[in-house]
Amino acid sequence: MGKQRSLLRSLTTGFAGRKHCCKGNKRHVILKGNRILVIKIERNSFHYCLDCALKFIATARKDLTALETELQATP
Ligand SMILES: [Zn+2]
Repeated sequence: MGKQRSLLRSLTTGFAGRKHCCKGNKRHVILKGNRILVIKIERNSFHYCLDCALKFIATARKDLTALETELQATP
């Protein structure tokens, strides 16, 4: 039996080690110690501020529900 795949393996959270800009919006400033969402894509990792992270999660939740509904729909 195969191991269950995680859809969210590339996502983690962390704390900013230094002051920098959010990858989602250059005007969002992430201060040292702020909570961040880290998205790893291949060898790169992108940091997003809390506001962007929560928006992404809300959108993803809707997308997952849509996928679930589609998979369960009878043809
Ligand atoms: Zn942001």
